[in-house]
Amino acid sequence: MWNAELISSKFESIYNQNPTTVIKSPGRINLIGEHTDYNDGFVLPAAIDKAIYFALREREDRLCRFYSVDLDDYHEINLDDYAKSPKQWANYLIGVINEIQEEGHQIPTGFELAFGGDIPLGAGLSSSAAVETGMGYGLSQLFGLSVDRLTLAKVAQRAERKFAGLNCGIMDMYASLFGKRDAVIKLDCRALTHQYFDLPTKNHSIVLCNTGVKHNLSETAYNKRREECEEGVAIIQTQFPAVVSLRDISLSQLTSIESLFPPVVYRRCHFVVAEIERVGRACSALTGGRFKEFGDFMYETHEGLRDDYEVSCPELDFLVEQAKLNQDVLGSRMMGGGFGGCTINLIKNDGIEDFIASATKAYEAAFNIELKSYTVVLNNGVEEVSLVPGE
Ligand code: ADP
Ligand code: MG
Repeated sequence: MWNAELISSKFESIYNQNPTTVIKSPGRINLIGEHTDYNDGFVLPAAIDKAIYFALREREDRLCRFYSVDLDDYHEINLDDYAKSPKQWANYLIGVINEIQEEGHQIPTGFELAFGGDIPLGAGLSSSAAVETGMGYGLSQLFGLSVDRLTLAKVAQRAERKFAGLNCGIMDMYASLFGKRDAVIKLDCRALTHQYFDLPTKNHSIVLCNTGVKHNLSETAYNKRREECEEGVAIIQTQFPAVVSLRDISLSQLTSIESLFPPVVYRRCHFVVAEIERVGRACSALTGGRFKEFGDFMYETHEGLRDDYEVSCPELDFLVEQAKLNQDVLGSRMMGGGFGGCTINLIKNDGIEDFIASATKAYEAAFNIELKSYTVVLNNGVEEVSLVPGE
């Protein structure tokens, strides 16, 4: 189990000194609202109890030393003269150092850093965002920079875009920074404001099932979907000139002009517009404590992603079908960009063990892959943790 003491002792064994600051930076899930972020829509993420821990200490010179415990790898840069690294993991850190300075914050001296945690890499739980937000918040705390959380989210997003080369949205970083215990975050991706909705886990929990696959289609398909959405907006603008993105049109308006679209582009737009509306309805279900209805929305999202947006894959579809066979599962869908990663499932607490056991058996029989499942707790966003046990 990762905690402040463990990362501190790793830090000490590498640098022969105590760290002065320890940060816990969570991964995230997304309940509903897939592929809506880059269409200016709404998403419904939450930070989770899987996290990366950062231990830091100032230096007197300009050297920044990074040690990745999980990869057992080391990198260093000088604050006065640095560049992208051939080591991808280091670029997330260097990117944040660069972008926080671009915001006008001075990093006065170098520092030592050790980091590691239990967010599975590349499973769609945004380990990369956790690395970035943990680094950003760590710098802010270590040097007393008082950078606000929204600025940190933007800094982290730019770091990932410019230094890791991924044209990502802001949801992952935002969720890692703004998470709240037992709550989901309804994020308006245009206004960059949010509202919390309670999702207590007294009776139901969130279980993630990791397909263990990542089909290489994902990056090309992602870019293609973005283009198709833009193509759709251009068609819509011929009838509704005020529309800037798919966020601005209702489902009934879209349906009324279906004949103008190439069928594929229409299906893409239909999914996105329906999904943006679904986030709102899902939040109303949470407010009313209607978890069954919320679960049905998750299934609807999966169908849309599978049939209209076409970003699912046989492994994800199989796991969602397994969920449907089980009475204790309220809802299930693929989570993230698609073509692999995890399914997210809302399950009655009493049924979790049985579901995991039967899904694991069936998945192994069908795909010969061991299914890894994680029951997660919705948790607070990035925070500094005390070094003294019990404090
Ligand atoms: P994810 O869905 O988990 O964000 P990404 O491919 O975006 O997947 O990010 C994974 C990358 O982030 C890793 O390849 C590594 O470079 C970096 N990373 C994530 N977690 C860690 C960690 N604990 N230690 C070192 N690097 C990490
Ligand atoms: Mg990532």
